[in-house]
Amino acid sequence: MTQSVPSEDLAIDRKSRALTVCDGIRLRPPDERIGDFDDVVIPFSEDCAQMAASRCIHCPDPAGCVVACPCHNDIPSAMWLIEQGEFLKAAELYRETSSLPEVCSRVCPHEQLCQGSCVLAKDEGAPVLTGMLEAYVMDYSREEKGYSIPTPEANGKKVAIIGAGPSGYGCAEQLLQKGYQITIFEAKPAAGGLLTYGIPNFKLPKDIVFQSVKDFEEAGIKFVYNTMIGKDKTIGDLFSEGFDAVFIGVGTQVDAPLKAEGVDLPGVHLATEFLIRTNVNSAYLPKGLEPLTDLGKKVVVIGGGDTASDALRSSLRLGAEEVTCLYRRTLREMPGGAKDREMTSEEGANFQFLTQPIKFIPGDDGRLAGVECLRMELGAPDDSGRRRPIKIDDSNFIVEADTAVLALGYWPDETISKSTPDLETHDWGLITADYKTGATSIPGVYAGGDAATGPDLVVTAMMAGRKAAASINEYIQNK
Ligand SMILES: Cc1cc2nc3c(=O)[nH]c(=O)nc-3n(C[C@H](O)[C@H](O)[C@H](O)COP(=O)(O)OP(=O)(O)OC[C@H]3O[C@@H](n4cnc5c(N)ncnc54)[C@H](O)[C@@H]3O)c2cc1C
Repeated sequence: MTQSVPSEDLAIDRKSRALTVCDGIRLRPPDERIGDFDDVVIPFSEDCAQMAASRCIHCPDPAGCVVACPCHNDIPSAMWLIEQGEFLKAAELYRETSSLPEVCSRVCPHEQLCQGSCVLAKDEGAPVLTGMLEAYVMDYSREEKGYSIPTPEANGKKVAIIGAGPSGYGCAEQLLQKGYQITIFEAKPAAGGLLTYGIPNFKLPKDIVFQSVKDFEEAGIKFVYNTMIGKDKTIGDLFSEGFDAVFIGVGTQVDAPLKAEGVDLPGVHLATEFLIRTNVNSAYLPKGLEPLTDLGKKVVVIGGGDTASDALRSSLRLGAEEVTCLYRRTLREMPGGAKDREMTSEEGANFQFLTQPIKFIPGDDGRLAGVECLRMELGAPDDSGRRRPIKIDDSNFIVEADTAVLALGYWPDETISKSTPDLETHDWGLITADYKTGATSIPGVYAGGDAATGPDLVVTAMMAGRKAAASINEYIQNK
């Protein structure tokens, strides 16, 4: 274990630390960033990183940031190490509690987690920038000394992991370090799950994802691509092949549909297909999908979450002139993160609230030309606690559009549950798994991440994989 820094040994002048002024998150200017799909964040310099970390006031244990972080990263100790210029030690500290620190440091909604719980966020309105600092030391460490996952001698036991997304990564990384032989079965032609086939490059550069895959390959993990478990082979087959346990980390792969006339017109896309075709290098496109580059001049994106923001921002980068989000409630009820929405707006997207699409209208060429919508008003709160949108009769109007993207949420794919007798499911086919252990209704079969909880976050999926790894180890050792 990396030595953590006992806060009682530190002479802390909390007031002066809190008042230290340093740069906030610096982004490339909006006009520049919509010209490409590169990262929008300008990384810290070494001096800035040390200065930013020195603002941590080292709250008494347990610090709010540590509690709020789903990995419980020892953030105060990392801040202390960064302040002292001990970047490599800080990076090691993050690796103790996280399997994907390079990724989580970039895509976690820090304003809702660690940074949202920072005392300075409440008192000064400017939290310690823990996410960017984590990214800084992870990049520094990678550049200075590379990284290889520590692997002990093989213990002779084999575990199959289904799905190469964050939950599968978390599980694989932990089991690898206990000597297991790991095979990851993945339906798509490349690894990463939604890190590769969802989150755009301007939020998470793909080379960071592929570097993690390389770490795994070098540590001896076998990836079997283009293999859909439940269709190409079953979980029963995996046990017959000699695997001692199986982890299911298949996410929620089905886009929620919209029942509306004309939804099948050319020019109307589901968010997953749209983001894959606009963001993924053609070498990794799943069979049958072509890159999508010509969206026409006007794009509408239907939905109010982060996926909608990602589709709006991708459309702007592909040169669409008018990009509009259609959302049936108001800004207050939008589920997506404020940070992403702010950047979307800065980059030039418009938002039309209280708007419900009801029909997709073709032009003379048979392609989408417009979307008929109804105006809505808000009624009483529904089960989600948000005010329910209610249609206003005869309020129909048409929004011109060459491309429409449906970003309405995700449902589970039932290929595995339907092909695995006795695997219990709940709520539309999510796999029933114990929150703490990942245990399912079948001995030796574990599950976690979005496939068990429904759509959530990279960090929560990765943690579910790590927890399941501990249970799988216990199960196999006690067998
Ligand atoms: C557009 C978009 C943007 C997002 N942005 C963020 C963000 O900024 N920050 C954040 O924290 N979260 C974000 N999320 C959510 C986050 O990506 C997910 O919560 C996380 O990836 C879930 O990880 P997972 O391992 O459970 O599943 P996934 O990442 O979905 O990975 C599952 C993998 O299993 C494979 N698979 C599925 N079925 C089978 C099968 N039968 N056999 C073999 N393989 C199979 C899939 O191909 C996939 O590779 C975003 C999600 C989307 C859709």
